[in-house]
Amino acid sequence: MTKKTGNSQLTDYHGKRDFTRTAEPISGTSSPDGCLFVVQRHRARRLHYDLRLELEGVLVSWAVPKGPTLDPEVRRLAIHVEDHPLDYAWFEGVIPAGEYGGGDVIVWDRGDWVLARERASDAKTAIQRGNLHFDLYGEKLAGRFVLAHRSGDQWLLLHKHDQWAVSPWDPEAHPFSVLSGRNNEQVAAAPE
Ligand code: MN
Repeated sequence: MTKKTGNSQLTDYHGKRDFTRTAEPISGTSSPDGCLFVVQRHRARRLHYDLRLELEGVLVSWAVPKGPTLDPEVRRLAIHVEDHPLDYAWFEGVIPAGEYGGGDVIVWDRGDWVLARERASDAKTAIQRGNLHFDLYGEKLAGRFVLAHRSGDQWLLLHKHDQWAVSPWDPEAHPFSVLSGRNNEQVAAAPE
């Protein structure tokens, strides 16, 4: 486990937050196999889900307003946001009102992700090209997903037709944290 501090990829993340006011993590440690993914359900000004993929010491992140789905008929808007520290994969709690992203957060799903190597030699190149094919091995999400760049910070997230596809499939029907078993309302009521 390597402690990562002062990672220049986290400049945007650090700049948006006052760590004397929020309990969100400042830095993070690498996972043993380096392929962690997490999805957090975040009730901020607007409800959204945050999809984060571990890559080169940080969590590359997209905010998905309607959440990820196993339904291969659905394409979901995904907004590319700032890289987050690896310890964010364990963050569940309340960001104070008035702070960046103020609201409650649960660890909605977590597991490993694997680049689809038949589509790209490495994940960084695939993201730079705006076309990332990957498999998720979570408790809720599984199978082949694609993140496809559209314009600016806008991407599309979709699930391929495979043995893990389910239609229809609504993330809101699976509201509990894989970390604590609590939902957002319960975390908001008792953050500790
Ligand atoms: Mn968020």
